[in-house]
Amino acid sequence: MSNNYQLYIGGKWVKAEQSFEVSNPATEQVIASVSQASEADVIRAIEAASGAFGEWKRKPVDTRAAYMHSAAAAILLNLEELAELLSREQGKPLPESRAEVEWTAKTMTYYAELAKNESGRIAPAAGNTQLNLIIKEPYGVVGAIVPFNYPLLLLMWKMAPALIMGNTLVIKPSELTPLCTLRMLELCFAEYPRGVINCVTGFADVGRVLVNHDDVPVIAFTGSTETGVNIIRDSAAKNKKLHLEMGGKDAFVIAPGADVELAASAIAWSGFYNSGQVCTSTERVYVPRGVHDEFVRALVSRVEMLVLGDSSKGDFDLGPMISAKAHEKLDKHISNALENGAILETGGGKSMYFEKGHFYTPTVLSGVDHDMLCMREESFGPLVSVMAYDDFDEAIALVNDSLFGLGACCRTGDPLLAKKFYENVKAGTIWINDPLPDNIAAPFGGMKMSGNARELGMEGLDSFVEIKHVHWDFDLAAKDHWVGI
Ligand code: NAD
Repeated sequence: MSNNYQLYIGGKWVKAEQSFEVSNPATEQVIASVSQASEADVIRAIEAASGAFGEWKRKPVDTRAAYMHSAAAAILLNLEELAELLSREQGKPLPESRAEVEWTAKTMTYYAELAKNESGRIAPAAGNTQLNLIIKEPYGVVGAIVPFNYPLLLLMWKMAPALIMGNTLVIKPSELTPLCTLRMLELCFAEYPRGVINCVTGFADVGRVLVNHDDVPVIAFTGSTETGVNIIRDSAAKNKKLHLEMGGKDAFVIAPGADVELAASAIAWSGFYNSGQVCTSTERVYVPRGVHDEFVRALVSRVEMLVLGDSSKGDFDLGPMISAKAHEKLDKHISNALENGAILETGGGKSMYFEKGHFYTPTVLSGVDHDMLCMREESFGPLVSVMAYDDFDEAIALVNDSLFGLGACCRTGDPLLAKKFYENVKAGTIWINDPLPDNIAAPFGGMKMSGNARELGMEGLDSFVEIKHVHWDFDLAAKDHWVGI
């Protein structure tokens, strides 16, 4: 594919009438022109996916799994090209892009094998002549709407379970990072039967066509809570199956007695990895009052070690943020905190070392409270805010004093405190001591305004099937309670 990227509909690359530009966030240079799907283009993609559904769902699971394995092998074969493109459009360091591509392939092989063990069940019947089957069926066309921060991986968390269970797909990548998805489809998915996978690029209006269309029974969405709520509103009248993975405001509690130096090392990583643009980035830290100052010094010294750079020029700790708009939100959170008495410990604005690119200096605030935006809204950037607490129960109450419930971490060597933490914190993932890792076999997702679904593991497979109960009586004789007997 040249630098002109097209729509993928019914197995063909199609040029739309209009296009938009994608820039490298490290240089702000335009790197590609991408077709901007019209409503008619999206409808054609939905029709292609609907047309392919019957045949795809009837294929034996082994056949669908073989397609998955061969695409996964192709992804690994093209790992370096895909990783470089991902870094160029998203800005993350190359090793992080390589890890994302590798995990994208692993997700496919995991679900290909898991689905081979998937079966319905037989419920105990009320009578001897009856069979009660509980069967799982694919929905049909899945609309997969994806954000900018992990464009390949978060697509695959939807695409792999949806495809292996017999659904077909219309993919809507982020307008900020569509390139690696289109290139992956071209390099690795050309063998799939026409129409099983389709991809339409563009802005919110493209996603809205999917959300509103009668022939897309499932919307699998990852993105901001604001967009998720719009999707709920737009689809309410159609009672669509909504699989929503939304924003977070993850907390990290350093329990009494925990080593603050080690906690600082963990947080300098979990708060700033991918420039803080991970849905489960550590954004709020609660530390015992007695060790607050020691912890802040330890955190600042580590955060100041982080080196920013353009991934095409070497190995750096952090890349740029995705856009100037993302900077504005961080600036707003920081100035609101400072106006209300917080202390800027380090960082606090666009990096002065770069003429171009959306590089933001890693920032730590202390002296914050829950009235400040930096503790209430998702910051989604390289900003960690630190607050002192007096006792562990208060810390747990502070963690739960949030609209969000995606992840939360506690550092402690005390098993009773660890248990109290995971039993009382309302969040979909709890990390004790080691923040951020996901496990392909364990469900991931949020509570409260962070979402309503689970991806990965068996739960991620079940998200893409409809459950049906079949009551079958072999006895053709009339029942006593029928009318006219
Ligand atoms: P976003 O909500 O701006 O966009 C996500 C996608 O939705 C894009 O493809 C966009 O074009 C599309 N979209 C926008 N408006 C739409 C509408 N009305 N109808 C249909 N589609 C629409 O999110 P983003 O800025 O790309 O990603 C960052 C956000 O994603 C953060 O809030 C982050 O926490 C969240 N996120 C959550 C998870 C999770 O698993 N919970 C994982 C990664 C990112």
